[in-house]
Amino acid sequence: MKKKNESRDCFCALCRSPRKLRYSRPLKTQHYFQILTLALVVTAIGFPWINWKGVLSLPVIWAIFESIHSSLYRKELRCPYCGFDPSWYKKDVKFARQKVEEFLKQNPDSPVFRRIKAEESTFKNLN
Ligand SMILES: [Zn+2]
Repeated sequence: MKKKNESRDCFCALCRSPRKLRYSRPLKTQHYFQILTLALVVTAIGFPWINWKGVLSLPVIWAIFESIHSSLYRKELRCPYCGFDPSWYKKDVKFARQKVEEFLKQNPDSPVFRRIKAEESTFKNLN
């Protein structure tokens, strides 16, 4: 049985915070059915004027769907606690590092700092 809002549990590669990712990189079978249904509806609505040329809306709808889905995926991929973006890390490590530093400067009360302080205090208590 499938859950309605499936999400993947994972951890941030940089700050180890637990994360839930709602979107996956490739489109799922459900998305292809949605694209096909929407294209059929557009074809049915436009049939009196453009006959079967409405079928050509399929690649356009597919492209729009794919771009929206990938932008949502990339937006979600960025860690809300430390600003680490794995997609930028794959392209340009220095730029990804710069983005994380900017994020942490803008968010000085990030939970990442609290965790580091807690770890440092535990380390001091051990010694
Ligand atoms: Zn993070």
